[in-house]
Amino acid sequence: MAKNKKKSMQNAAPAILLALMALLLIGMLAAIIVMMKRQKNPDSGNGTPAQIAEQLPDSSAAEVTTTENSTTTEETTTTTEPLPPGSVTGISLSFYSATMNVGDGAIMPIVTMLPDDAEDRSEMWESDNPAVAEVDDIGRITAVGAGTCTVRVTSVSNPRVFAEVQITVKEGAAVTTTLPLSTPPQTVPDTSAAPETTSGSSTAQSPASSEPASSQAAPATTATQPAAPRSDIEVINGITYVQGVLIVNKTYSLPSSYNPGGLTPEAQAAFNEMAAAAKKDGYTLTICSGFRSYSYQKQLYSNYVTRKGQYEADRCSARAGHSEHQTGLAMDINYAGSSFDNTPEAKWLGENCWKYGFIIRYPKGKEEITGYKYESWHVRYLGKEWAKTIYDSGLTLEEYFGITSKYAE
Ligand SMILES: [Zn+2]
Repeated sequence: MAKNKKKSMQNAAPAILLALMALLLIGMLAAIIVMMKRQKNPDSGNGTPAQIAEQLPDSSAAEVTTTENSTTTEETTTTTEPLPPGSVTGISLSFYSATMNVGDGAIMPIVTMLPDDAEDRSEMWESDNPAVAEVDDIGRITAVGAGTCTVRVTSVSNPRVFAEVQITVKEGAAVTTTLPLSTPPQTVPDTSAAPETTSGSSTAQSPASSEPASSQAAPATTATQPAAPRSDIEVINGITYVQGVLIVNKTYSLPSSYNPGGLTPEAQAAFNEMAAAAKKDGYTLTICSGFRSYSYQKQLYSNYVTRKGQYEADRCSARAGHSEHQTGLAMDINYAGSSFDNTPEAKWLGENCWKYGFIIRYPKGKEEITGYKYESWHVRYLGKEWAKTIYDSGLTLEEYFGITSKYAE
């Protein structure tokens, strides 16, 4: 008997051990399952699709609903494979909404694929309602009939990334109803916005610090005449300065290698100061286009030529090397198109930008002088002293300095 009892106790020990091991195993399995679930979760980083979607411009968020009407498009917003290196992870546009009239010339947003070094930046375009607006494969949007629709650009290399433009088309007093892609600009509507601009001229080099009309006579405060104190023009490393002010226009260009890499810190700081002041007055100012490299401008200009022909392109877009945006001292505020003209923000900008070191570079009625149509949105940083001087003079930079703005051609 006693012997038996002992034996049964000896048997019990391994049984307990076994049970413990089984418990442990179950616990480990549970932990593994939890970890696997986490990996699928977007929060876990590594560029999962959900994360990428979050990097899209705001406008895209609202669109997800719109997509349902369209026949194609992606429901496929959720994949788990990691992106190949060099993939596009975001798309930004020069504008996200536009109002057009039937018969207007086409408009084309500037597309920026992020990151800068993404390898395959090919785009696919589609309109969810071609009866309202059509889009071609380079992004030219043409109004077809009254209504609203969404035009989407999607990255070919990473179709999960897209951006959209909301288009409203009105039955306008259209001169023609044919698709005007290559038509001359007459009809250019406010909405023709788009990117360009630029190219103006002149940029101040060390603005704030440089004393403006130092030696030369201060400009007459109300000069109506275009002759300004002519001063020496210096060219240093291919860059032209007039009285120390960097000038870029149709006459004076920048070398293709000139690349500050972005807005200059002074220009950015001045913008920030100006935007804060505008905010206090109840207006929101944003930069819709700041620095543009030589190569980017080259592409932009050629898009314009394709779209509108060279004559019209030259009125609103600069040839490479002739864009003021390449200086890092020029920027387009809020919306680069004539629909910005009559906004309260445009009015505020026109009246106040000089206080922060900016001038409206291409004023109304000065196209023959500056070489560009009126651009209420394009400001050039000169530094406060120069900006006040130019503003007070009522002159353009070309007039003030007595210089031209014409392509040698
Ligand atoms: Zn501009």
